[in-house]
Amino acid sequence: MAKSVKVAKKAAPAKAVAQAKKAKYVYFFGAKQSEGTVAMKALLGGKGANLADMAGLGLPVPPGFTITTEACAKYYEIGEKALHELIREEVRDALTKLEKATGKTLGCGVNPLLVSVRSGAAASMPGMMDTVLNLGLNPETVEAMIARTNNPRFVWDSYRRFIQMFGNVVLGVEHHDFEHELEAVKHAKGYTLDTELMTEDLKEVVARYMKMVKKVKGCDFPTDAMEQLTLGINAVFGSWNNPRAIKYRALNDIRGLLGTAVNVQAMVFGNSGTNSATGVAFTRDPSTGEHKYFYGEYLINAQGEDVVAGIRTPQQITVKGSREWAKARSVTEAVRKAQYPALEESMPKVFKQLDAIRVKLEQHYKDMQDLEFTIEDGTLYMLQTRNGKRTAAAAVKIATDLVQEKIIDEKAAVLRVDPSQLDQLLHPVFVKSSEAKAKKITVGLPASPGAATGQIVFNAATAELWAKEGKKVILCRIETSPEDIGGMNVAAGILTARGGMTSHAAVVARGMGKCCVSGCGELHISYDKKTISCNKLVLQEGDWISLNGSTGAVYEGKIDSQDPKLTGPFAMIMALADKYRKLGVRTNADTPRDTAKAVEFGAEGIGLCRTEHMFFEGDRITSFRRMILVAETVKNLRAALAACCDAEEKAVLERELAAPLKQYNQALKELLPLQRKDFIGMFKALKGRPCTVRLLDPPLHEFLPQDDAGQAEMAKLMGLSVEAIKQVVDSLHETNPMLGHRGCRLGISYPEVTLMQVRAICEAAAAVKGSQPEIMVPLVGHVKELASQKALIEQTIAEVEKAKKTKLHIKIGTMIEVPRAAITADQIAAEADFFSFGTNDLTQMTCAFSRDDAGKFLGEYVAKGFYDYDPFQVLDQDGVGRLVDIAIKYGRGVKPNLKVGVCGEHGGDPKTVAFCHRLGFTYVSCSPYRVPIARLAAAQAALKG
Ligand code: PEP
Ligand code: MG
Repeated sequence: MAKSVKVAKKAAPAKAVAQAKKAKYVYFFGAKQSEGTVAMKALLGGKGANLADMAGLGLPVPPGFTITTEACAKYYEIGEKALHELIREEVRDALTKLEKATGKTLGCGVNPLLVSVRSGAAASMPGMMDTVLNLGLNPETVEAMIARTNNPRFVWDSYRRFIQMFGNVVLGVEHHDFEHELEAVKHAKGYTLDTELMTEDLKEVVARYMKMVKKVKGCDFPTDAMEQLTLGINAVFGSWNNPRAIKYRALNDIRGLLGTAVNVQAMVFGNSGTNSATGVAFTRDPSTGEHKYFYGEYLINAQGEDVVAGIRTPQQITVKGSREWAKARSVTEAVRKAQYPALEESMPKVFKQLDAIRVKLEQHYKDMQDLEFTIEDGTLYMLQTRNGKRTAAAAVKIATDLVQEKIIDEKAAVLRVDPSQLDQLLHPVFVKSSEAKAKKITVGLPASPGAATGQIVFNAATAELWAKEGKKVILCRIETSPEDIGGMNVAAGILTARGGMTSHAAVVARGMGKCCVSGCGELHISYDKKTISCNKLVLQEGDWISLNGSTGAVYEGKIDSQDPKLTGPFAMIMALADKYRKLGVRTNADTPRDTAKAVEFGAEGIGLCRTEHMFFEGDRITSFRRMILVAETVKNLRAALAACCDAEEKAVLERELAAPLKQYNQALKELLPLQRKDFIGMFKALKGRPCTVRLLDPPLHEFLPQDDAGQAEMAKLMGLSVEAIKQVVDSLHETNPMLGHRGCRLGISYPEVTLMQVRAICEAAAAVKGSQPEIMVPLVGHVKELASQKALIEQTIAEVEKAKKTKLHIKIGTMIEVPRAAITADQIAAEADFFSFGTNDLTQMTCAFSRDDAGKFLGEYVAKGFYDYDPFQVLDQDGVGRLVDIAIKYGRGVKPNLKVGVCGEHGGDPKTVAFCHRLGFTYVSCSPYRVPIARLAAAQAALKG
């Protein structure tokens, strides 16, 4: 007997089996007999629930049954043997019902029943788990099928496909072992294509497969259909936790599911002759969202896997689609009609029925559907419908079109688009003139839009390795398979020689929002030589190419890219988001350019301007370094002077102080107009929107060169010895700089820096009408720190007001990024006009995870489930979040209308945004490119309540 490769995990505790017995694990579906409903997605998986639903709608669904996701959870809890015991009777009953409904019997009889065994979780994971088709074939049923169909070639071909699929998926025999046998027969006969294999050849292939399986696995291929079914069910449950499924769930943040359901369904045959076909279709274009016609592909005389596997080039569903396809490939109308007719032409009656089903399903599910169908001898069967995966552009267009078509309302549209997906729309496209000049190599299918330039690699491992080294890569494959997922994830773009719009590469790339060109038939990719050749051109690994995923064009070399236009459906979905959100959305920006970009993306102001970034620009770093060089000396001499009572000593100290103080003041004097100019630029770009400016925060050593060459250069520029520079660098060295001399501690030690910065802000505010600066003090832990800085700020505001004869309305607030500040927020609120949570530092200090070093172990912490996500990316709501909650309550206890924002990296993370909404934040602030994401996430949080 064949052993399953997916072995039972644990022995079954008898009590657990007894308890579990109460549950129902198997649900039948079929015309007028479906036990499940569409509402049971969590239990039946998406595929199972929709099959039951479609059958209920009277659509032609081959009958079958679904084994629940709870059974999958049991598989992992009690092991496969105990699960088998647990569901055996229910499976047998459902099978009897299925046999009755089809008039066929599994594994024997004159009319044998063959079934497909497919996975289907509540969240769709295309191609990640296992499937077995044609289950139930054995020597007896093969003969019976031949007698019924009178088509021995079809039956033997199905048998060899079954052995191959079952052998690989269930028994764990390597794919290439089967390929080896198949190739041997083809070679002996001088064939190149599988379709050239005749009945006798296929019999030989089957015999070779059987022999090979026995040799590799040490046991016979199972011929008992019930045993095949049990093993098949177990294999599908086992595939829930195969490495690629685990990786897919991690990449797509799919969590909290019980497992996969298993759908056992009567087989229908798209490969039973030229009046049969199989296909996949979308009710709207999954790349663009357009619905000019019915999008889809089909293959005559083929089985479902052939379409997705991308081995044959599929034909289009509609004449319109077919003509567009032909045009893109320079195929003449005559050739198209003769060789690649649309379904609309080749099977007009079936097309009409399918087209009516398309309309019905979209109206029913109120969303774009991804359909799988099979035509068996002229009869149409629906095998699947699900909400189709789509690019961000398509998601936005479909959601807004559905509102305009009155199929969904505005709120539903806002909830339809995944905020993190918006990122795809904000990224560059090729500059037209640069693309026009580029040398086009070939054109494939525009499988996933966008623009990508990178270096050629030929396998996923190299892609991951090179990407780690900071290289931009284009993953080039003959066709991709689920094993390539890691490489696809890191690649800038994906190029395949084979496969259609629904090939693995196309579907996965779209899901990832990654540029992909598929089905470039003209390209010859050699994995051995690591070359791509096209006509006379030969490209090597590491050569640069560019892909236009929106047109399918492939170019030699690099192409310049530019930012996309944010109009049309994107603008509409953003306007709807703004209508429903309650949270404000600001940006973290410190240059006029970033500010303008963020305003274009809809930022309502700046939530964090890190002023230190301004010190690095141009030669202003020189002035700032001059200030640093003497700052410590000035501070020490001033302290000595303050403590000195002796007049003579005082005079000496004053003389000593004179030169460094002059340099200190001079440097600050040089910096003042530069800072003022920056603020003027930003206030202008903000056009009256508020701007939270944070005073100097990082430790001073960050502004000095740490390497020998840099120090030598600085010494030359400053007219000092290298030793003198080194001495200052050493004196600023701290063991724990993140907890050292930084934040408001700098303004307390060097008040002139605060005074200079505040003066620059105030003078810029006086210069730009309508500007709304807010001054923020960083790293406050004690209210007295804030009070002391506030006094300096207020003094400067008053001075500028007097000098400029104007009234400045400037709020003074603080960052809450030190746990002590959070738990004394009531005291701090008394001095603050606003709080802005610096969740980067707050996470660092609350969890005691160094921002710079935690990368070493945080991955492991997340993998082990200690933290659901990296707490520096998604706010740790249970820990850091609790502190935030406390601080807001304390703060608003003192000042009920206290303005509260967040400006750590978390401000652009949709989950954190939802959390901030629940806690009653006033706004979130994030990097410019995440502003649209935050706007949509805020609206969704408001709508979800
Ligand atoms: C923070 O700590 O969250 C913050 C915004 O400040 P920075 O990242 O500059 O320390
Ligand atoms: Mg900080």
